[in-house]
Amino acid sequence: MIRLNDITSQVLSYHPKADIELIEKAYVYSAKVHQGQIRLSGEPYLSHPLEAAYILTQLRMDVVCIAAGLLHDVIEDTHAELEEISGLFGEETANIVDGVTKISKIHFKSSKHRQAENVRKMILAMSTDIRVILVKLADRLHNMRTLGFQSEEKQRAIATETLDIYAPLAGRMGIHWIKSSLEDLCLFYLEPEIYTSIKSLTARRQSEMGDFMKRVQDILTEELAKVNISVTIKGRQKHFYSIYKKMIAQDLEVSQVYDILAFRVIVNSIKECYEALGHIHSIWKPVSKRFKDYISVPKANMYQSLHTTVFGPMKERMEVQIRTWEMHHVAESGIAAHWKYKEGRAVQKADEKRFTWLKELLDWQKNLDDPQEFLETVKMDLFPDEVYVFTPTGEVKSFPKGATMIDFAYSIHSEVGEKCSGAKVDGRMVPLRAELKNGNIVEVITSPKQHPSKDWLNFVKTSKAKTKIRQWIKTQGKEESVSLGRSILEKALQHERLTVPNLLKSEQVTAVAKELSFQTGEDLIAEIGFGKISPNQVVGRLRPKLVDNEEAHQGLVSKVVSRFTRPKPDVGIKVDGVSDMLLHFANCCQPLPGEKVVGFITRGSGVAIHNANCRHIKEADPDRLVAVTWEPTEKSTYPAKLRISTVEGKGILADISTVFSQKDANIVQAEVKTTVDNKGIALFTIEVENYDQLQDIIRTIKKVRNVLAVERLQDA
Ligand code: MN
Repeated sequence: MIRLNDITSQVLSYHPKADIELIEKAYVYSAKVHQGQIRLSGEPYLSHPLEAAYILTQLRMDVVCIAAGLLHDVIEDTHAELEEISGLFGEETANIVDGVTKISKIHFKSSKHRQAENVRKMILAMSTDIRVILVKLADRLHNMRTLGFQSEEKQRAIATETLDIYAPLAGRMGIHWIKSSLEDLCLFYLEPEIYTSIKSLTARRQSEMGDFMKRVQDILTEELAKVNISVTIKGRQKHFYSIYKKMIAQDLEVSQVYDILAFRVIVNSIKECYEALGHIHSIWKPVSKRFKDYISVPKANMYQSLHTTVFGPMKERMEVQIRTWEMHHVAESGIAAHWKYKEGRAVQKADEKRFTWLKELLDWQKNLDDPQEFLETVKMDLFPDEVYVFTPTGEVKSFPKGATMIDFAYSIHSEVGEKCSGAKVDGRMVPLRAELKNGNIVEVITSPKQHPSKDWLNFVKTSKAKTKIRQWIKTQGKEESVSLGRSILEKALQHERLTVPNLLKSEQVTAVAKELSFQTGEDLIAEIGFGKISPNQVVGRLRPKLVDNEEAHQGLVSKVVSRFTRPKPDVGIKVDGVSDMLLHFANCCQPLPGEKVVGFITRGSGVAIHNANCRHIKEADPDRLVAVTWEPTEKSTYPAKLRISTVEGKGILADISTVFSQKDANIVQAEVKTTVDNKGIALFTIEVENYDQLQDIIRTIKKVRNVLAVERLQDA
C-alpha cells in the first residue's frame, strides 16, 4: 500500500519547493472522514485516495491537485461538506473535488459511438479545471486495478464505461500510459480468455524479445547505412489491447498474431522513406498485401507513413513503419489526429486544436520546475461554445451555449417543441427560457393547449427550433389571412351582387389564382387577407367567369341577398394597397384624423384601427400590423371621450355644453359625478371631425371659469 511519505517524496523530487503541508493536511482529513470505511478488497478505504494521489504524482501534478486526489471521495462517501473543504484547503482544491464528485454522479448508459463522444465532451465541458479530469483518470485507473473485488456484473459495466469514455479521454489528453493501462485492464475483464492467451503469447517470447529488438535495430541501422541512409529506430511491444484490436480487424486467432513487436524507422526525407522501404524488402521478405502507402495517400488527419509487415530475422512477422521526422511529429503530437486514426471517425477541426493544445500543455508541464505557471492555464473552458445535457433516459445531447429548454424540446421532436409548456431540470421546474447547463437532466412537460410563441424566437439558439417556430407562425398567419381574405372577398362580391358558393374550393377562384400565378384558390385568398392583392382585382377577373352561372342559377337568391347588402360604411380610412377592407376603430384609443394610426389584422373581425401610440399596438405581433391612412370625407365624425374636473358650481355644465355646440361637436353621452371633496367630474363622449378640432375644444374648455382640468380618455 502507498504511504503518505511515498507521495510527498515523489512531489519533492520534481518540485523541491512544494508546500507539502497541504498534502499532509488533506491526508489527515481524508483519513479522519474515511475512518472505518473498508474497500471491497478488505483494505482501509484510505488506500484508494492514496493510490489515486500517487498516480497524480506520476503525472507530476502540483500540491493542490494531489490534495484534491486525497480528498476526491470525501463529498460522495462521507459526511464532509464542500464548504468545509473550501475553508480548510482553499477554493481551488474544493473546486476540483466538486468537479470529480459531479462527474462520478453521472451514469452513462449507452455506449453507442456518438453517445460516447458526447459523454466525453460533457466530462471535458464540466471540468473547467483540467485537473478535475486528471484526478478522475487517476481514480478510475486505481478502481480498474482493483476491479477484481467487484461482482462480475459491475466489472463488465465499469470496464465498458472505462473503455468507451475514460481510456479515450486519457488518449486525448496525451497520457498514453494511462490509456493503454486502462485498455488492457478492460480487456482483462471484458475478454478474459483472449487476454490470457495474448499474455501467455507475449510471456513466452518475453526473454527473446529484448535481444530480438536489439538485433533488428542493429541490422536495420547497418543495412540502411550501406545505402547511405542514417536512421533512428524505435522498437516497442504493442500493448495487449492493440494486439486484440489487430485480431478483430484482421479476423485472426491469437496464435496467428505474430507481429507483437513494431518498429519505427525515422529518416530525413520522403525519398529516403521509399529507399529504406525497398532496402528492407530486399533483406526481409514482405508479407503480401500488408503494404500501405500513407505518404502518397495520407489519412484524412494528415497522418503519413509507409506501413509494411515483413518476415524478420527470426522469420517472425513484424510491422515496420517508415516516416520522416516531420511525419513523426505530426503523428505523435497531433493527439486529436491520432485519436481519429484510432477511432476511424472524423473529429472536428476545432476539437483537434483543443486537444493538441491540451497535450502540449501537459507535455510542457513535465518540464517545469515550478508548477505555478502551469496552474495559471489549467482553468479553462474547453468547449466555450457547447453545452451537454441528459434526457431523462440518459441520452446525452449537445447544444450551442445559451440554448434553452425550448431548444431542448425541439431537439427531441418538433411536436414536443410546439407543445412544450414547461421544463424540469434535475426534477425542479424552470422557466422555458432558462439556459441549459452542463450535466443537467432535462425533462420536458407538454400540453395539448400550448403553442409556439413569437417571443420564443428571442431566446432560442438552435436553428432547428428557430426554423420550426417560424414555420408554425407562418402557417398560423396563413390560416388567419385566409379567413380574413375570405370575408373581404365575400364582401366585395356582395357589393357587386355576385355570389360564389364554396369560395375556397371554387373552380372559378382557382382559375383566377392560376391567372395571377398562385397555386391554389386558398393561396390567392390568403394574399387578399395579407393585403397584398385587392379584392376588386379578383372580382374583376371573376365576374366574366361567374356571369353565366349567376344568371342561370342564382337569379332570385342573389337579388334578395343584394337587396339586404348595405353600402360600404364610410369609415374614412384606407388600408394601404387594399380597398374594401373590413375596418373598425379600436375602442381603447379612439384615434382621430390627424393622429398617426396603424391597422391591426384581428382574428376574424377585419382590421382594427389604433392610435400609433396605443399600448395595445406596442405589444402586438408586428406581423399583423398594416399601414393605414386617413381618407376622411366631410361628413365623417369620430368619438372622443373627455374627463373634465370642475369646482362645483351652478351653470358650469351649461358653459361646457356651449363650447361643444360652438365648436360643432355633438354630445353623444354625458355623466356627472361629485367627489367627496365636492369637486365635480364630468365625463363626455363627443363626436368630432379630427384631432385639431378636439384640441381646440380642450383648449377652450380649459379657459372656462371653475374648470380645473380637461383630459382626453384613451384607454377604456
Ligand atoms: Mn474514488
